[in-house]
Amino acid sequence: MNGLHFSQVGLHGAHMAVPHMLLGEIRAVVGARNLRMGAAADVDPGSNPDNLGAGLIVAPATTEEVAAVMRLCDRHGVPVVAQGGRTGLVGGGVSKPGEIVLSLDRMNRIERLDAVERTAVVQAGVVLETLQQAAAEHRLEPGIDLAARGSATIGGMISTNAGGVMAFSNGVMRHRVLGLEAVLADGSVYRDMTRVVKNAAGYDLKHLFIGAEGTLGVVTRAVLKLDPIPRATATALFGLPSVAAALDLIRLALDSETGQLRAAEALWRPFIELTASAHGWSEPDFELDRPVCLLLALGGGREDALRTEFEKLFGDILERHPDTTGIVAGSKRQEEALWRLREDTDVVYWAHPAAPSYDVSVPLSQIDGYVRAILSRLTDIDPELKPYVFGHLADGNLHIVLNRQGPLPEPLASAVEAVLYADLAALGGSFSAEHGVGSKRIHSLAATADRTKLKLMRRVKDALDGHSLMNPGKVLPHA
Ligand SMILES: Cc1cc2nc3c(=O)[nH]c(=O)nc-3n(C[C@H](O)[C@H](O)[C@H](O)COP(=O)(O)OP(=O)(O)OC[C@H]3O[C@@H](n4cnc5c(N)ncnc54)[C@H](O)[C@@H]3O)c2cc1C
Repeated sequence: MNGLHFSQVGLHGAHMAVPHMLLGEIRAVVGARNLRMGAAADVDPGSNPDNLGAGLIVAPATTEEVAAVMRLCDRHGVPVVAQGGRTGLVGGGVSKPGEIVLSLDRMNRIERLDAVERTAVVQAGVVLETLQQAAAEHRLEPGIDLAARGSATIGGMISTNAGGVMAFSNGVMRHRVLGLEAVLADGSVYRDMTRVVKNAAGYDLKHLFIGAEGTLGVVTRAVLKLDPIPRATATALFGLPSVAAALDLIRLALDSETGQLRAAEALWRPFIELTASAHGWSEPDFELDRPVCLLLALGGGREDALRTEFEKLFGDILERHPDTTGIVAGSKRQEEALWRLREDTDVVYWAHPAAPSYDVSVPLSQIDGYVRAILSRLTDIDPELKPYVFGHLADGNLHIVLNRQGPLPEPLASAVEAVLYADLAALGGSFSAEHGVGSKRIHSLAATADRTKLKLMRRVKDALDGHSLMNPGKVLPHA
């Protein structure tokens, strides 16, 4: 390590301590304009202002350049934080002075899209929406979707094992990746770019990098599975008297003869009241006074047939739960308006800046009891503590955002986590459904994970990144 000469360049007030010599060597690899510092970086920090804390962004264009940068950083002992779209919600991408942000934004090529194989070979910096649009030209889709589609990258989604609205039927990112390439801490390249579903040739090591949040290597390329896209979609919103009724409706929709269920998003009353009011949304025949609303999307051959199917579903659910309301979107515009009510979560953060948010998953049979219990226990802490609850109900993933400005002071923060996380493991759920651990949830992992799992995680980390240069301070509890 060269500890004598340090660059002192400010970016948002940050001071760096990265050896000058290393900067020169990296510049020779990626070119001067792709080593961005100070005002020249001019990058949106995304979901966390500390993402750019390092004050230094390196943007390689190829796997070979990533490998060369990693070799140099390894030699100088400088840590690297990989970043994609910076939409991560658990502080996995935050960086600090003395580290280097490795941005994948120039590795943004779809290298191959094969309609017969139904596969896409992509570089890690490809934005989800770009892939969705390219696949749609072949009547295909990546089978995974989330509200951050316009910024989230395939590399970031692989690294967080992203879930989203279609996970209940298509699985999470782990189930969409056929092949993967990653650069390790020492600059060596792990390459398994198979384009087939079946590959039983030894340990399937790509899974180490999926969900590792950049702590084991830099994902550079991947092969993704694509699915046929339905010719038509339709969307409906139901207001339901209970969670049991919402789960009943999901079961009916899964059993539909005409359409295939593509999304089942739940919006508890305080959440939909807030987003509807923010967007000035109202419908004369749809009162927002039911405990929970369910946004359903069906895919199939014809839009009119799907809308008729929704009317049939409405009739069926009314028979079982008479206090149900429903509205079917009659046009693409109405469909988009309904989706905004679910996807525009910014509305909550405008009302409560940096509001504490949680991302749990709960087995479907336990959701009703879980939500009742946490609502009641939170008001035991403070009668005014009322969370916004929404999420991917069909797979049991709930997002819970408090009606408080964050971060919460202690001991309130711990008391809230004790309520939200206490019974989760016993119920068969998880404190982190799809957002990961990052830097925000390490203490929760340390408190709840199986001891043997924690030891194995440490051994894997030591084996792949002995000097702890890959995204240090993330995911793993301190040794
Ligand atoms: C409005 C909104 C809605 C969201 N909805 C969902 C949702 O429905 N489901 C869901 O799962 N998530 C959701 N998220 C969270 C976020 O979009 C995902 O975590 C996404 O996968 C992050 O991708 P990214 O490219 O932005 O990664 P980043 O935020 O840049 O990075 C996330 C983590 O991955 C690491 N990383 C990034 N790229 C690489 C790489 N190439 N190699 C190695 N490590 C890398 C980073 O170091 C960091 O630890 C949402 C976020 C927002 C803002």
